[in-house]
Amino acid sequence: MNDSPLALLGGEPAITAPGPHFAWPPIEDADRRAVAAQLETSVSIPDRSGVVAELEDALASYLGVRHVVTTCTGTAALHSMYAAAGIGPGDEVIVPALTFHATATPLFHLGAHPVLADVDDRGQLDLDAAARHITARTKAVVAVHLWGLPEDMDALVSFANDHGVMLLEDGSHAHGATWNGQRTGTFGTAAAFSLNGPKPLSAGEGGFVATDDAELYYRVLLHGQYNKRCRREIPADHPLGRFAVTGMGLKLRIHPLAAALARAQLSRLDGHLAGRRVIAARMCAALESVPGIRVPHVPAPAVPSWYALPLRYEPAELGGLPLQRFLDALHAEGATEADQPGSTCPLNTHPLFQAPGDLLAGYADHHSFAAGSFPAAGHVHNTTFKLPVWNREDHVRLADAHTAAIVKVATHAKDLL
Ligand SMILES: *Cc1c(COP(=O)(O)O)cnc(C)c1O
Repeated sequence: MNDSPLALLGGEPAITAPGPHFAWPPIEDADRRAVAAQLETSVSIPDRSGVVAELEDALASYLGVRHVVTTCTGTAALHSMYAAAGIGPGDEVIVPALTFHATATPLFHLGAHPVLADVDDRGQLDLDAAARHITARTKAVVAVHLWGLPEDMDALVSFANDHGVMLLEDGSHAHGATWNGQRTGTFGTAAAFSLNGPKPLSAGEGGFVATDDAELYYRVLLHGQYNKRCRREIPADHPLGRFAVTGMGLKLRIHPLAAALARAQLSRLDGHLAGRRVIAARMCAALESVPGIRVPHVPAPAVPSWYALPLRYEPAELGGLPLQRFLDALHAEGATEADQPGSTCPLNTHPLFQAPGDLLAGYADHHSFAAGSFPAAGHVHNTTFKLPVWNREDHVRLADAHTAAIVKVATHAKDLL
């Protein structure tokens, strides 16, 4: 046990290595070579060829799905997925109240309505709450595997079947995570993933849609990949073929250099995930019985991707010490990467969800979500902080230093009161 005084009160910090302590994606020579080679091959790919085809084939085989369409961002992938699923004006889509806003915001650009449903005490979609929001206009429910911890997909699949709504997934935190051995992003009609900078699989900027449904695949293409790609992928005699030149009019293609980076990273994804599993288990073991700290419960069927380690804070066990004061002390110890999730928060706290009509035409009558409407989402958010999950063996000491810093602050909490 570390008996030196808290760094916030003038003691020696627990972590002396200078930050930043975590960087993602890990760039290796294979990435540099792939991007440099792509620079010489082509920096614009208008059809499904070259590195775009290679990446999509590799993602489809990794997930075990028939079709993958890459996009410029995860937000664009979600937009294309919803459009391709036929979600339009007046339709309602049930979205967990606690997620990153882009899970829901593309719906505003289809005339549809995100219907927020509260989460359970673990921060996952509360299916009783979701059931209360089902109406004749409900088209779909969205599963988000927050921080890479898979949702209960048995329950979600039954829920969607029982209510006759589509199951869609936002897999942006959960590349390679599994539920009962099946990869997240393969349970519903379609899934959208981000390939943004810090995500478990990164293109820097990018995203993709995965589906087994050929018609939905064509519509994803028409939404954001017009002309050559549509002309070559959609059979000319298919009823949608005549729209190939213009598609729906948006252009959301991935950049070939980003595709090259993601293709190189994908070869190492399983290694990254295995490394994260080892370190996450080690961090959880170190924090399991620390007062004031709850490690995430991982149900038996779930293998997380560990996008982050979300920890729950119980101030009552630390004399009521506010989380912010706890984090200030942790930062003073050098654990600068420990933070409260920022933009991944209860969506009803965003002005866009409170008053969408003030910014978006057609939403004046949208049911607005008042502050305090989702007590569980608010509680989970206000009591969660997260740490990065490192992936390499030589990161073990850094991970240990971070958990030791948490133990130190928790055991000295009374000094801060
Ligand atoms: C990152 C993220 C997105 C948006 O992806 P971008 O690539 O940043 O557009 C959507 N949903 C979730 C859950 C995310 O984490």
